Amino acid sequence: MSASVVDAEFTFELLVCRWAELAWPPGDGDSEPQATNPSDDSVVLVSRQLGTQRRRWDTIVLECDPEGLAARQTFGDRTIDSELLPIVRHAPAEWGFYRDALPDPGYDWRYVREAIHRAGARGLINKRKNGNRIEIRRKRPYPDWVRRIIAIENKPDLDASAAAALTDQLTHDVDAGLADEVWLATSRTGASVEPALLRKFPVDVGVLTFDFTDRRGAAVEADDANVDWLPSSLDTGAGSDVFDAAEKARRRRWIAERAYGKGWRSITETMRPDCRHYELRRAGRGLVPSCAAKGRCQTEAECGSRCGAFEPEPPQWRTGGWPIDGGPGKGIQRLLERRREREREN
Ligand code: SF4
Repeated sequence: MSASVVDAEFTFELLVCRWAELAWPPGDGDSEPQATNPSDDSVVLVSRQLGTQRRRWDTIVLECDPEGLAARQTFGDRTIDSELLPIVRHAPAEWGFYRDALPDPGYDWRYVREAIHRAGARGLINKRKNGNRIEIRRKRPYPDWVRRIIAIENKPDLDASAAAALTDQLTHDVDAGLADEVWLATSRTGASVEPALLRKFPVDVGVLTFDFTDRRGAAVEADDANVDWLPSSLDTGAGSDVFDAAEKARRRRWIAERAYGKGWRSITETMRPDCRHYELRRAGRGLVPSCAAKGRCQTEAECGSRCGAFEPEPPQWRTGGWPIDGGPGKGIQRLLERRREREREN
């Protein structure tokens, strides 16, 4: 594998996600300066490619309260979506009419009733009919499980045009104040002053530089990051020019839930591991997808149903020692799903 593999934004992003899982927060090694939030007892969960309608973050790190996270896990592994979350959070300890218990949704209550039935079917709350009234009761309190949300923008190759486009995005992230910290992750050039520090990014944005190459190509290790610039801690509790305080809190809860359910290994849900050319390559302490037909790491976008080189796994692969319910592609999906669950339980 060549160094150019690491230049691919998608591969870089996966390696940053894996590094965050291994080593967040940055600055524990020899690099200076130290990060603003030295390690406490927070449990780290990592996700990728989610955010709001206007802005999608590449890597999301959740610093979680361990007890809160354990309590969240009792609600299951799936995201509690934005319709269910107010119901789960506000369901009373004793049976109550749902309209008395829940905040006004701002839209028709019949959609709330539908969501109550979904929440009940998923075992998130108790519900019953009392005459023609629907009553709800919580099973357990929904915990306050996220301490901080960190947004990381990945841009391995920071040329002038990429930097110009990023400036607006990072400025929006700082102004919105949804994340507690905003970072830029880029490839380390080895220059005496890294190019990222010469660009006109907001001073509140931290800069992490990575060298993800070893003699075999792409590889991630826990000590791969340098902190070249420290971020400011953003005020996520107060309203901003972009969101008022209540909307910000609502979006932060929603981002946290999405991140919890999605993780960052959901690539098998969007790519084609059932293609005969799909492989996983070891990259130090991580794994990255690779396409044997293209001879490189394929992007998430090109590895889909419209890929001209797609070929299904031959049927005999499914009988050559692989479980009856799938060939190597299924094996890859199971491997990544097991890892995703393991990280949630850590
Ligand atoms: S050939 Fe296409 S679908 Fe198959 S692994 Fe490569 S990029 Fe993905």
